[in-house]
Amino acid sequence: MKKGTGRPVFSGVAIGRAYIYKKQQAALPTSCGDASVEQRHFEEAKEEARAQLQALFEKTCKEIGEEQGMIIDVQMMMLDDLDYLESIEAMIKNGASAAEAVKETGDTFAAAFAAMDDDYMKARAVDVKDVSTRIVTILCGGKTGFSMEEPGILVAEDLTPSETVQMPKDKILAFVTRQGSSNSHTAILARIMNIPSLVQTQINLDDEIDGKQMIVDGFEGCYYIEPDEQTLAVMKEKRHATEEYRQQLEAYRGKESVTRGGRKINLFANIGNPDDLVHVIEGDAEGVGLMRSEFLYLGRTDFPTEEELFEAYKKVVEGLGGRRVVIRTLDIGADKQADYFGLEHEENPALGLRGIRICLEREDVFRPQMRAIYRASAYGPVSVMFPMIASLWEVRKVKEFCAKIREELIAEGVAVGEVELGIMIETPAAAIMSAQLAKEVDFFSVGTNDLTQYTLAIDRQNPNLDAFYDAHHPAVLELLRQVAHNAHEAGIWAGICGELGADASLTETFLEMGYDELSVSPGRVLELRKKVCESEVQ
Ligand code: PEP
Ligand code: MG
Repeated sequence: MKKGTGRPVFSGVAIGRAYIYKKQQAALPTSCGDASVEQRHFEEAKEEARAQLQALFEKTCKEIGEEQGMIIDVQMMMLDDLDYLESIEAMIKNGASAAEAVKETGDTFAAAFAAMDDDYMKARAVDVKDVSTRIVTILCGGKTGFSMEEPGILVAEDLTPSETVQMPKDKILAFVTRQGSSNSHTAILARIMNIPSLVQTQINLDDEIDGKQMIVDGFEGCYYIEPDEQTLAVMKEKRHATEEYRQQLEAYRGKESVTRGGRKINLFANIGNPDDLVHVIEGDAEGVGLMRSEFLYLGRTDFPTEEELFEAYKKVVEGLGGRRVVIRTLDIGADKQADYFGLEHEENPALGLRGIRICLEREDVFRPQMRAIYRASAYGPVSVMFPMIASLWEVRKVKEFCAKIREELIAEGVAVGEVELGIMIETPAAAIMSAQLAKEVDFFSVGTNDLTQYTLAIDRQNPNLDAFYDAHHPAVLELLRQVAHNAHEAGIWAGICGELGADASLTETFLEMGYDELSVSPGRVLELRKKVCESEVQ
């Protein structure tokens, strides 16, 4: 038996035969000697690629969702990108065949994207490579896509998004790749498809493992090749228990989140953008407790306009059909950078200009966001909260600003709703000052990811410090206890929207502390509802 590890992208256990996926390496045809003929071959292949992608786009939107369809859409846009097309044309004029020109251009563009700082742009490297491979394959007379005879575990160097969506979903039990990041489109698709997967493994792709029995444990982030009897039995049991558990959770769909002792709690979901609404509905969340609105600012070259922001918020508000959304104002900075903000390089970005600090310094950024949020509030229940608060003066200044924006809109004759104003408690200062802060706002939402990082002085981004990043640390739990207590003393509600909120081993503790809301990834809601419904807390 061989065992290896990787970064888990989606949990679950899969047992099956390894299926090594290797891309076809066709020898590229050389030029026929006539550049105009090669150019025509390219144009025809490009249109064929467009037709394939269009069909794939429709299939993806129908079977997986519009957000994933957009991944294909990005590739279709590449087919009209002037720089890309001009580069190919120039190479053909210089004597390259259509296939050689597309391959060379695809590689060059992919390398340029991969070298960019922006994570979104980095991820585009895969898209340009993918679309170029498709055109080259057409030019070589080949077909894209592949088939699997029987269900198996797909093992690959890396997978592009369009390869992933074309895979026969009913046949793939798990993905294991040597490359790939947990933010890649392929990883996103794997999560949506509920397929256990590991990236960044050291798995050996030599054919010797092809067809061998394999296990992927997406909980532990490990895989086994030719497992021994004992491992196989343990993993079969684990898989069975997981399936049974998921089935049991369905009994909690549509139920109220109330303890046996009669305590009602909100089980809300965290989202990044309007496309995530589908998961909120699927997960049976009772509302959105954290919309990380900075995602609307990432992966762009310029600020979104007030109108764009308004449309995005309105879509969420309307999509929730009367359920509440808590929009967090942008938390750019630290690991979430957008070049067009023009922020200076910082030695300690997690302790730098981020979250509310940017909004307080940049009214030109804060104003359109707040106007858009107030405008969207006319369409359903909206709360707004501010990240990285550390001092009373920040809250007072933000409140003044919000009151000004509200009055301004009313004076313009624009409809606005009643908007609750809250703050995130994610700095130790805010937790310690929570009694005073509670008198200023309508609610608290605890960001345990940052609260843990700042309380324990441990960089949450540093994988080498994982062993020290202890969100169960008594200091963190004590702050959580104080925050809920101080909120209730002042008559306001308190929730948790950091990852710790989904930690089922602490649900009872959070109920005892008096938390009114837990906001978690949509897929975790049913599990937590079960916990809540089984609790005796009053
Ligand atoms: C947190 O810090 O816990 C939080 C919810 O915000 P983010 O993870 O986006 O910093
Ligand atoms: Mg945070």
